[in-house]
Amino acid sequence: VTIAHNRPWLTEADNAAVAEALASGWIAPGPRVAELEAAFVAMLGGGAACAVSSGSAALFLALKMLGAEAGDSVALPTYSCSALLNAVAMCGARPALVDVRSDDFTIDAGKLERQAPDARFVIAVHTYGATADVAALKAGGRVVIEDCCQSLGGLQGLVGDAAVFSFYATKMITGGHGGLVWDRQGRVAEAVRDYVMFDGRPDWKLRFNLQFTDLQAALVLSQLKRIDEIRARRLALHRSYRTALPAWAGIQAGFEGDDAIPYRFVLRTDSGKRNALRGSFSAANIRTIVPTEPWELLHRYLGQPVSDFPTAEAIASETLSLPLYPALLPEEAELVTNVLKAST
Ligand SMILES: *Cc1c(COP(=O)(O)O)cnc(C)c1O
Repeated sequence: VTIAHNRPWLTEADNAAVAEALASGWIAPGPRVAELEAAFVAMLGGGAACAVSSGSAALFLALKMLGAEAGDSVALPTYSCSALLNAVAMCGARPALVDVRSDDFTIDAGKLERQAPDARFVIAVHTYGATADVAALKAGGRVVIEDCCQSLGGLQGLVGDAAVFSFYATKMITGGHGGLVWDRQGRVAEAVRDYVMFDGRPDWKLRFNLQFTDLQAALVLSQLKRIDEIRARRLALHRSYRTALPAWAGIQAGFEGDDAIPYRFVLRTDSGKRNALRGSFSAANIRTIVPTEPWELLHRYLGQPVSDFPTAEAIASETLSLPLYPALLPEEAELVTNVLKAST
C-alpha cells in the first residue's frame, strides 16, 4: 500500500450531512450556504462573508471589489501558485513579483519597495499555514488581501483588507471545490454577493455566476465542526516529524506557537540530500512532493530573470513536503517518522 501525500478526511458525520442536504431537496445556494457564511463570521469575530465556487474565484472577486483594475500593480510572492496570476489577470491588472523570506517562505516585505515600487495592492499568502507579515505589507497604505487558502484559524485573515479561503479537496476543510471572501467592514463580501447573484435582478450590469452550493456547504459545515481536532492532529504530526528530523535538515519556520495550523511539513536541505531522502520515502511507498517546483515559480512563467528571485529559487530546489493531514493513520505516521529517523 502506498501512503498518499494528501487526502481529504471524510467521516460518517460528513456522509450524513451531505445525505441530509440531498434529502432536503435543496442543493442550490440556500440555507446551508448562509449557515456556512455565518459560521465564518462567528469564527472571525464579525464582518461579512460570501461563499463562492473556488479559492481562485474568491481571490479574483476580492481583488476586483477592492478596486484592482487595468493599470494597477498587484504585488505577489513569486513562490506561490498560478491561481494568483490568474486572479490578477482576470482584473486586467499587472502582477509585480516579489521574492520570499528564507525562514517562513512568505512574501518578503523588505523587498517589496524595490521589486514592486508602485504596487497599490498586495496578495499576502500564508504559505503552507505560516503567517505572512501583513502589518508590514500594509505600510504606505497598500491594500492587502490575505490568501488563507492554506490556513484556517489563529489570527490569519483578520488584519488585511479582505481574506480569501479555499475548500478544494486537499485544503484544511473541503467541499470538493469552493471558496469564501470575508472582510471586517463587510463592503467587499457584500459587493461579491451582488456580483455573483446574477439572476432575477431588477437591473443589469456585468455579474457572473461564481456561486457556491448547499450540497457542498453541507460538507464544509460538517468539517468545520471538527476544526479543533483537525488543528490538533496537524500540530501533533508536525511535532513528531520535527522530533524525528535528522540534524542536517531544517524546516519551514512559523509553527513554533500553537495557534497556526500547519498545512504542510516542509523540510529543507541541499538538493542532493533532498533527492536522496525522496528516494528513501519512495522506496517505503510513501508519497512526498516538492511543494513548489522551480518551474512553477511565477517569475519563470513570466520569463523574468531567475537571479532576481534567489530565495524562491533556493527554496524550490531544497524542499520536500511529507504527508501531513488529519486522515493519516497513526501507523502511517509512524512509517513516515521511521524513514526520517533512519536517514543519515
Ligand atoms: C489552493 C489555493 C488557491 C486556489 O484555490 P482553489 O480553490 O483551488 O481555486 C489560491 N491560493 C493558494 C495559496 C492556494 O493554496
